[in-house]
Amino acid sequence: MAEDRLGNLRNCKKCGRLFSANNDSTFLCSRCNESIDDDFIKVREYIYDNPTSSVKDVSLSTGIPTESILKWIRDGKIILGEKSIISFCERCGEPLDDGGRFCPKCVRNLTDGLKQGLVKGKSSMSRNQGMHIKEKK
Ligand SMILES: [Zn+2]
Ligand SMILES: [Zn+2]
Repeated sequence: MAEDRLGNLRNCKKCGRLFSANNDSTFLCSRCNESIDDDFIKVREYIYDNPTSSVKDVSLSTGIPTESILKWIRDGKIILGEKSIISFCERCGEPLDDGGRFCPKCVRNLTDGLKQGLVKGKSSMSRNQGMHIKEKK
């Protein structure tokens, strides 16, 4: 019985295997940790070799889900080069593949908002007129 290390035993977040953690920030067993490192290195190497590829391309070529890739980029584990077309929407943080500042959804929302602002300006005018009509009875 390993009574003194019992406090550090925990279940791996990925495979559920019981393992003894070295520190409090370890949530994966050594086996899963290793495979994550492999995935990470694969993605990093691919992005370094293909700096102009999109997240989708990287995911297809490495077999790593886009969520993992984006997480590494967000965490600053993968530094994108100047040539990279991968960026994030300045409004909602959605990943962009065209190096733009906003995702199509936000672009639409922003233009809609502008239009609505114009419409609102008009409708407040007509509401004032409506009040006059109401007073007439
Ligand atoms: Zn595991
Ligand atoms: Zn957006």
